[in-house]
Amino acid sequence: MKLLEKMIAPIDKALERFDPVKQSEKGVGGLRDRYYDKTGVAKWREWRGVRDTMVDYTAWLNNILSMVQMVASAPVPIMKAFWEYRWMGSYLGTFMFIDRLFEGYRGPELKIAHMNMHAIVQSLTKRIAFAMKNDRRLGGGPETEKIIPHDETITPLFLKGFKGLYPFPLQTLPEFIICDVDQHIEPYYIDVAESYGLPADVCSRCSAETGVAIDDAFPLFGKVLLSTNMPCNASEATSMFQRRRYGKPDFPITLAMQHNNPEALPYSRETLQNAMKFVEDNYGVKYDWDEFFRYAKLMNEQNTIELEKWDFFKTPYSPLSGIAESLYRLYSWQSVNGQDPYFNKVDRKVIRIMRKCYEEKHLPFGGKTRHRAFLWGPSAVYYTDFPTWTQNCWGITIVLNMDSTMGFNMINTEDPEIAMDDLTRFTEKACMRHHAVGGWENINAVWEWAKNFNCDMVLMNDNIACNGMLGVHGMMEDQARDLGFHFIFIEHDLEDSRTVSRQDMRNCVNKYMSVVLNEQPLDPTIVEFDDSDAY
Ligand code: SF4
Repeated sequence: MKLLEKMIAPIDKALERFDPVKQSEKGVGGLRDRYYDKTGVAKWREWRGVRDTMVDYTAWLNNILSMVQMVASAPVPIMKAFWEYRWMGSYLGTFMFIDRLFEGYRGPELKIAHMNMHAIVQSLTKRIAFAMKNDRRLGGGPETEKIIPHDETITPLFLKGFKGLYPFPLQTLPEFIICDVDQHIEPYYIDVAESYGLPADVCSRCSAETGVAIDDAFPLFGKVLLSTNMPCNASEATSMFQRRRYGKPDFPITLAMQHNNPEALPYSRETLQNAMKFVEDNYGVKYDWDEFFRYAKLMNEQNTIELEKWDFFKTPYSPLSGIAESLYRLYSWQSVNGQDPYFNKVDRKVIRIMRKCYEEKHLPFGGKTRHRAFLWGPSAVYYTDFPTWTQNCWGITIVLNMDSTMGFNMINTEDPEIAMDDLTRFTEKACMRHHAVGGWENINAVWEWAKNFNCDMVLMNDNIACNGMLGVHGMMEDQARDLGFHFIFIEHDLEDSRTVSRQDMRNCVNKYMSVVLNEQPLDPTIVEFDDSDAY
């Protein structure tokens, strides 16, 4: 290995002038120089030195391979789906999306980021093929009647006790994931919802889901629909629109809003049990606890490794942070949820690299981190590749995102009675629930989390239409002042990039960093640029 590095070193030195990170260090260019103006289209791939360029290129090929396998496994339904669903075309932007997410990444940071991202790509491509093969709109398939379509914020783990059935998060393909890849797709569905009479001042996530339903752009399968009130009352409203349009018997899984309150547990537990009974009655399948325990063990392993990762996040030596951490945790917790052993394998490999980096006192991102931030941010942080940008532009490492703190309690894998309580606690803490919904204490806990993870900064995404958070803006400002955190409110309109552009969001940070902190950017080419036409 050492010999190889010795051989590579002179080549890296000779080609250093093409490396955008080195260019910005020398003041002769930077990361944005590769792009055509306004777009996310790069003129050439990022040169990162021989070894890291190979790591990046191999990951790119692996992702292409997953796409090819997806098309090969269901060529006719996939082709039909491109004609049927507008959102399918947006998946073609995935490669540009991934390239942007990890620009400036080198060494173990890059390696881990790609391992995590490939796990998502291989899982999603399989899911797309499975959904299209069984979609009634496209002719249906052998599993059409065995699928349980459920709201994406319902954790699928509890449905794994139904052997031979397939839980499927309905909004994940047309809305939840794709809004991160393509900033232009959800505005179309938002317009559909508004042209139907939905007011324009509601949460754009819920509005987009409503538009997908009205546009008949959800895949159709299963015998029922499991809807929910999670995470908030806006979701409750969009669930009503969706269930009417989907046209299947539905069971609304309405879990307690005050989910930190132990007195709410019996109510939420009973709701989940009723949902299980509803599935049993409609599909004629008995709940099998042993089958459930198999998957609960995988989920427990996911969470055990996650908690070990948190110990490393608290130190300056974690190669995992930002988008590679938060997007992976969001998908692996909310969507995978113990169902796919591939994610356990990736977790085991990643934690080994993290342990090694800690032992070697590896400082990520070339030691350029200036601030450690706790992020309170939903989807808009992904299509803007925001954490990558804060790192590359201002040296702000996003240590942990609010959604990474979703249900991390362990689930009993022997006794159904105890498991049911654990499962309820776990299910209640789904996406956007921790720190967003559930009372003032729950929201205010953000400071404790930031302190525990040794952060000096809190970045708070101020979704201008989030019912959960609108009322607390002023109070959060006061708290930050009292507790001595650098605190930046980043205005955005979640999935509608027309209201607040990516550059408007970046400007919130630019202003704070230059005017309040009087700091200089690490890479001046990415302080202000137009990417309004990009995916
Ligand atoms: S962003 Fe706010 S309003 Fe929208 S679904 Fe999440 S918690 Fe609800």
